[in-house]
Amino acid sequence: MGTRISAEKEKCIGAGLCTVAAAHFDLDESGKVVVLQDGDIAEADLALVTDAVSMCPAEALSLREDG
Ligand code: SF4
Repeated sequence: MGTRISAEKEKCIGAGLCTVAAAHFDLDESGKVVVLQDGDIAEADLALVTDAVSMCPAEALSLREDG
């Protein structure tokens, strides 16, 4: 049981806020979000990632419970 990041690339407008907020995100060559750490989010990173997800102006990011 863990929490994972879901990213809807087609919604991403490449604002890059998530990439600044957490190391879990980057932009690909077309300026769309890529999730670098695709597995369960470490407990210690959860607050950071939750902030990054809530910052996205395009609502392209969400968290889902896994397991
Ligand atoms: S904050 Fe949202 S719109 Fe901006 S790069 Fe990240 S996923 Fe894309």
